[in-house]
Amino acid sequence: MGKALIIGAGGVSSVVIHKCCQNPEIFEEICIASRTIEKCDAIKNKLSGSRTKIHTAQLDADNTDMVIDLIKSFGPDIVINVALPYQDLSIMDACLATGIHYVDTANYEPPETPKFEYKWQWAYREKFEKAGITALLGSGFDPGVTGVFCAYAQKHYFDEIHSIDIVDANAGDHGYPFATNFNPEINIREITANGRYFENGEWVETEPLSIKKIYDLPEIGPKNIYLLYHEELESLAVNIKGIKKIRFWMTFSDNYLNHLRVLENVGMTSIQPIVYEEQQIIPLQFLKAILPDPASLGPRTKGKTNIGCIMKGIKDGKPKTYYVYNVCVHEECYKEVGSQAISYTTGVPAMIGAMLILKGIWKKPGVFNVEEFDPDPFMEALNKYGLPWQEDFSPVLLD
Ligand code: NDP
Repeated sequence: MGKALIIGAGGVSSVVIHKCCQNPEIFEEICIASRTIEKCDAIKNKLSGSRTKIHTAQLDADNTDMVIDLIKSFGPDIVINVALPYQDLSIMDACLATGIHYVDTANYEPPETPKFEYKWQWAYREKFEKAGITALLGSGFDPGVTGVFCAYAQKHYFDEIHSIDIVDANAGDHGYPFATNFNPEINIREITANGRYFENGEWVETEPLSIKKIYDLPEIGPKNIYLLYHEELESLAVNIKGIKKIRFWMTFSDNYLNHLRVLENVGMTSIQPIVYEEQQIIPLQFLKAILPDPASLGPRTKGKTNIGCIMKGIKDGKPKTYYVYNVCVHEECYKEVGSQAISYTTGVPAMIGAMLILKGIWKKPGVFNVEEFDPDPFMEALNKYGLPWQEDFSPVLLD
């Protein structure tokens, strides 16, 4: 059916590529392009028997002209951006210049300020509309599946959703004293920022990790969950009509938080450059270089993740509650595609988003978040491609 240019060759990219190769009728040909071509070649070599034809290319995606040249020489129908959020705008510019559809899993963030927001990418709406191409933003798990879960609940179960609590739990153990499950720089920037949630039309700001609760998660058990700001809150607050309150919660072990606190206290999570032996270094980037590569956690990680949305609202004038979630097993992900569940739960939805655009089901000129499309084909594809979901109509609510 089509050709995809996949940018980035990290943990998430590897899963996207494995999933595209499991679906060769849709993804007939792909090109893996990233900063370090050896990483692209290593993924290609793992999939040597695939029916999907695989090419690789060296690419600095910060350089729009280079992305344009590669798009022109490879001729994809779609670009799947699974590099870093810093590259979103340069890649979107290249898609506009060449008239190619765009998918990503994380919203733009300027490298010098840890402040991810949709405003930069939403500003492209008119340009994509005029160019007649689709940009699908945040088609990972969270953001991504969480938005589809909300749109599905809105379509099938509620007249109005009043509150949404997104709970992201990882009960996996990789055996290292400290490691992050996806890009450490992006992960630590997210966690050390202030928390924020939406209530009655306003954003309430909280100190980092200052609100904690215990929630008993299906198949995982009771866990400490901490309130964080997360990017889907921004788009869901706009796209779920009548919403009064949305919060995002993530599990962290005491051990993880102790390490993080020490690293923060000694300045290792700072993004302010320092000069060391006449070289300018950014402590957080140096920390990323010495921490385990998330892509290497696959064979070591055991246990489950559970990510879902707990909702409260009304249907036919009566109060209604609904919880929809996916449980994913790290070892099973590794057996299937050679990656742990965090990369898996992000890579599968990125492939599904791209597939729905290629099939014309989610193709619409403009820039969209996942919850703006019909959730049903995405929900069906989650069951088919490895992320089955479960429902509970009387969940315990978070107060
Ligand atoms: P990794 O750090 O493992 O991989 C990032 C890849 O991008 C690397 O191969 C890196 O190259 C490449 N890259 C970085 N800069 C450039 C550049 N300028 N040009 C070309 N390639 C570049 O990250 P992950 O795979 O863990 O995460 C990928 C994305 O997925 C991130 O944006 C992350 O925020 C997002 N994500 C989304 C989630 C969701 O649920 N929505 C959950 C988890 C992640 P090199 O190898 O040379 O460094």
